[in-house]
Amino acid sequence: MAAAGAQGRKRILKEEDMTKVEFETSEEVDVTPTFDTMGLREDLLRGIYAYGFEKPSAIQQRAIKQIIKGRDVIAQSQSGTGKTATFCVSVLQCLDIQVRETQALILAPTRELAGQIQKVLLALGDYMNVQCHACIGGTNVGEDIRKLDYGQHVVAGTPGRVFDMIRRRSLRTRAIKMLVLDEADEMLNKGFKEQIYDVYRYLPPATQVVLISATLPHEILEMTNKFMTDPIRILVKRDELTLEGIKQFFVAVEREEWKFDTLCDLYDTLTIINYDLPNNRELYIHRIGRSGRYGRKGVAINFVKNDDIRILRDIEQYYSTQIDEMPMNVADLI
Ligand code: ADP
Repeated sequence: MAAAGAQGRKRILKEEDMTKVEFETSEEVDVTPTFDTMGLREDLLRGIYAYGFEKPSAIQQRAIKQIIKGRDVIAQSQSGTGKTATFCVSVLQCLDIQVRETQALILAPTRELAGQIQKVLLALGDYMNVQCHACIGGTNVGEDIRKLDYGQHVVAGTPGRVFDMIRRRSLRTRAIKMLVLDEADEMLNKGFKEQIYDVYRYLPPATQVVLISATLPHEILEMTNKFMTDPIRILVKRDELTLEGIKQFFVAVEREEWKFDTLCDLYDTLTIINYDLPNNRELYIHRIGRSGRYGRKGVAINFVKNDDIRILRDIEQYYSTQIDEMPMNVADLI
């Protein structure tokens, strides 16, 4: 009786814990600041630099190492922070190119996304002789079968078509080592959940699972217990995006209608953009963070009407940054 009671309590506590648990980065996650020190294969490293990447982004500095170690990984960071490249680099690193069988399967919620992933894989793997196939609905089934028969190291696809190919035995799963779920929040919502489980059931039991998402609601996090083993969690928060290296100016415009003409003038000399100030502070860094990411220098110019000055000063204070009025010789300064 006592034992049963204790067990019952334990179960209840576990459920409570899950709803209260904050998604945080696991303790063992460390930062690898360069691609050179990630222990990547030479031909992949060459592809990364040839693609124009110089330095890994925050999520790449943390997640690639854990994925290539073979751990199940849940990685969360905002869109545009380099998540796709994170798992593409990791997948490429784990391939045995001599073996022309599917070793990694990437599932994405849309055909476009699956196509983009395939392109990134092919670009980063340009020196590796890698075969990657986008297995997506709306395309010719016969062509899919032919490509898969030829042998593909990596398949990136939408769950429906991928499952179809698995069932027809065109996509053989026995050599698959890694399953990546991109945009996992979308993927594991009601519409896709069953299809993902269908695919998952065909994969070898030891398959490593990597879950990538910009947001991770609790329902999704709870679900991960079902198909992940002691996953490493990696979260890159807003604070780690930085305004360092981005010069910020404002241009006072008296009237809304003048913003456009002023923009046209600016375009003659510069590449830039904040046409309207954003409605909240997080959006500000999200927008201008794009201009200076990955150590590149960026410039953000905000068009400010009289009543916007207050918002601008609030942003300045919030991010402890400085936004000056744009000087006439701005082109010389940047
Ligand atoms: P996410 O998947 O988080 O939305 P992506 O991987 O698509 O982000 O990356 C966003 C953009 O940044 C892409 O254009 C990509 O080529 C570029 N990018 C990713 N990682 C790097 C890097 N380390 N250095 C330079 N550019 C990068």
